Amino acid sequence: MFNKLLKYIKSVLIDPHCLACGAALEIDEKVVCNQCKNTTIADLFSSPMLKYKGNIVEQRLMGLALFETAASLMPFEENTLSQQLIHDLKYNNYQAIGSLLGEAIATQIKQNNRYPQIDYIVPLPLHPKRIAQRGYNQSELIAAEVARQLNIPLEITNLYRKRNNESQTLKSAEERIKNVKDLFELHNPTLFENKTILLIDDVLTTGSTIISCCEALYKSNNIKIHIYTASVADVI
Ligand SMILES: [Zn+2]
Repeated sequence: MFNKLLKYIKSVLIDPHCLACGAALEIDEKVVCNQCKNTTIADLFSSPMLKYKGNIVEQRLMGLALFETAASLMPFEENTLSQQLIHDLKYNNYQAIGSLLGEAIATQIKQNNRYPQIDYIVPLPLHPKRIAQRGYNQSELIAAEVARQLNIPLEITNLYRKRNNESQTLKSAEERIKNVKDLFELHNPTLFENKTILLIDDVLTTGSTIISCCEALYKSNNIKIHIYTASVADVI
C-alpha cells in the first residue's frame, strides 16, 4: 500500500508520465501527452453513439427520468484507459483528470446544437462524509471545468445527498431502486425554477442514481435537465 502510494506520488507529482503511452510529460502537459490527447484520447471521447438524439445513455434513462438530453463522453470499459481515468480520478487523488474530462465535455457541448443556453452546471452530489474521506467530489471537479470553459455558474449547494448510501454494486435492480429512493433533496427549489441545468456525473451504470437525482430536481417548477456523464458502463 505504502509502496503503491510512493509510486503514485512519483509518477504524478515528481516525474509525471502520460497515462496513455507512458512518455514523460512536458511542463505544459497534464495527464496525457499532447500527441495522445490528439489521437488516443480524441478517439476515446469521439463515439457518436453516446452523443446524438436517441443515444444509448438516453435509451437507458428513457421513461425513468424526465430530461431534455443525455450524453456521455466515453464508454467505460474494464482494463482500458477509460477505467484508468475514472479510477485515478476517483480513488488516486489525480484531480487533473477532472479538468481533462470537463474540458472535453464543454467542447462537445459547444459543438452540438442540441444544447440551449444553460443557467447552472450541477454536479451529482456526494454525501459530506464521503467527501471528507476522499477530499473532493470527483463529479464536481469535472463540472467545475465545464462551468469554467462555458462561463456558466457552477451550483453545488442547492442539490444535496441525504444519505451516505453504500455502493450500488452487487445489488439487485429492485434493491438498487430502493437504495436510491429519496436520496437527494433541494435546499431551495425556487432557485432552479424556470432554469435549464446541466447535471454532471462521472459514471453512468444502471442510471438509478441519476434518476433519483432528477426526481429531486423536478421539485423545481419548469426546470429543464440536461445530463452529461464522463463515462457510461455496459450493464449486464
Ligand atoms: Zn502519450
